[in-house]
Amino acid sequence: MALDPQKKLLEKLKIGLGKARPVKAPTGTQLHCKSWYQEAALRMLCNNLDPDNGENPDELIVYGGIGKAARNWDCFDAIIRTLLDLENDETLLVQSGKPVGVIKTHSHSPRVFIANSNLVGHWDNWEHFNLLDKKGLIMYGQMTAGSWIYIGSQGILQGTYETFATLSDQHFDGSMTGKVALSGGLGGMGGAQPLAVTMNGGVIIIVEVDRNRIQRRLDTGYLDVTTDNMDEAIKLARQAAEDRKALSVGLCGNCAEVLPKMIDQGFIPDVVTDQTSAHDELNGYIPMGVDLEEALQLRFSDPKKYIDMAMDSMATHCRAILEMQRRGAVAFDYGNNLRGQALKAGVDNAMDYPGFIPAFIRPLFCEGEGPFRWAALSGDPKDIAITDQALIDAFPHKKRMVRWLTMAGEQVRHMGLPARICWLGYGERDKAGKLFNDLVRSGRIKAPIVIGRDHLDCGSVASPFRETEAMKDGSDAVADWALLNCMASVASGSAWTSFHDGGGVGIGYAMHAGQVCVVDGTDEAEQRVITTLRNDPATGIIRHADAGYERAVEVAQERGVKLPMINMFNQK
Ligand code: NAD
Repeated sequence: MALDPQKKLLEKLKIGLGKARPVKAPTGTQLHCKSWYQEAALRMLCNNLDPDNGENPDELIVYGGIGKAARNWDCFDAIIRTLLDLENDETLLVQSGKPVGVIKTHSHSPRVFIANSNLVGHWDNWEHFNLLDKKGLIMYGQMTAGSWIYIGSQGILQGTYETFATLSDQHFDGSMTGKVALSGGLGGMGGAQPLAVTMNGGVIIIVEVDRNRIQRRLDTGYLDVTTDNMDEAIKLARQAAEDRKALSVGLCGNCAEVLPKMIDQGFIPDVVTDQTSAHDELNGYIPMGVDLEEALQLRFSDPKKYIDMAMDSMATHCRAILEMQRRGAVAFDYGNNLRGQALKAGVDNAMDYPGFIPAFIRPLFCEGEGPFRWAALSGDPKDIAITDQALIDAFPHKKRMVRWLTMAGEQVRHMGLPARICWLGYGERDKAGKLFNDLVRSGRIKAPIVIGRDHLDCGSVASPFRETEAMKDGSDAVADWALLNCMASVASGSAWTSFHDGGGVGIGYAMHAGQVCVVDGTDEAEQRVITTLRNDPATGIIRHADAGYERAVEVAQERGVKLPMINMFNQK
């Protein structure tokens, strides 16, 4: 007798095994759950752990140090089983990667609520987190790892591409051609740096301690060449810049050792930044003076010594960046809290170079712009090509977006489910959501589309060393905004909503919300997606208007975002 689709899926995913095995998202038009909302959550959870997508799926690690999708394999199995049974008026509650209950809600409610790594203020630090983690009571969710909307290095590629494009506008007459950048880390996020720079026409050297990570970026076409030899890396970079050719070089080594050596030899890049896992001094950053294997052993045998060594190395690394800046390099922090760690380790002037948000991104936040992303549940890349074209047709005036979508279609290999990202602002995201729903309704796209975003967005984060660094009114650490954003998504009818602590910069340094919508071609989906994707960036405009950014106030007035206090003053 033929097996029903659910049973087949349970067997395929080996649900009940309770331990590591390769997992891939189901694809196609066959529903296994009671609606596409639950189905999308199930597929995206599996997609986060697809070996083509996640960094270390055996440990359920998706990216960013120990950013995980589920607490352990038993929890993964239980989440899948629960989603398969979940009714269309129920909501699954997930606490730090563990499914803890199902509540009766409404058909328009989100189908999953996720809370990851949140701790009460006084205990909100790595030390307490690691204690709870050891007891199996908590999980680090990063941003899109624990909220099931990670789309591989592409997710960060476009943001990194935008960052380097804006940097070249500000410092190099609009092009990275002939310029050399230097960075560290080729992990899930950092791995996007080489391609983002070469897409901007520039040259980059990336220092990475783990040979396997370098190989992965070479295999996926994100990195051009590799060497173990610093002199050779510098020579290759200088030659390419002289020839005005784009090139990325992966240099195997430790940043804390390599950067000071570069300074000694008189090599100062045009741009310097970093994306090693500096946010996590125990399970992320690799200290100098030990090789990778020794470092991994030391983490377990003597965590205290490891942390001391890592903090020391981060201080050295940050000092080298400061020195390069002093000698003329454009330096910026790339959202991994290297400056914060160095400050803790005694580098008093660590904050002398800016974070990338105040330096390059905040004006976009005032327009309600942010990293809008989507994935094709059909598994067919042609569906993504159709959505790319639909956005190019809908927003032809957004020249940078059009250039990005065209290049991404040609150069970006999909990791896991076919997906795309591009930055859209207030009034654009809901338009795109409706457009995608229409494409599903008309049958031009084979199966529903899932639409989400990074937690790094205009209204969803409180992160004083990153998204909310140097706010005009000094409200950097006020987390009310992230909570209001979370509530707005829930009330608007997202498919699932999440709230996390620590993503990007580490436990205690950030609170942030995520939302995901699903468009299945129905009227209900249209209503939900328009409301959610309008309100989500609206909270960004409100947050920036309240902090005193004139452009955000203008955007609100131009596009009809209601600001009670400002309207009241205008009437006086
Ligand atoms: P990851 O853990 O997947 O990769 C980090 C890489 O750094 C690893 O390959 C590791 O081998 C390497 N590394 C660690 N210490 C090193 C050292 N001393 N020298 C050279 N290489 C070293 O992390 P990821 O997902 O790539 O994220 C990188 C950092 O960026 C994290 O701190 C993350 O929180 C942060 N982040 C930034 C953004 C952003 O928008 N800029 C977004 C998300 C995350």
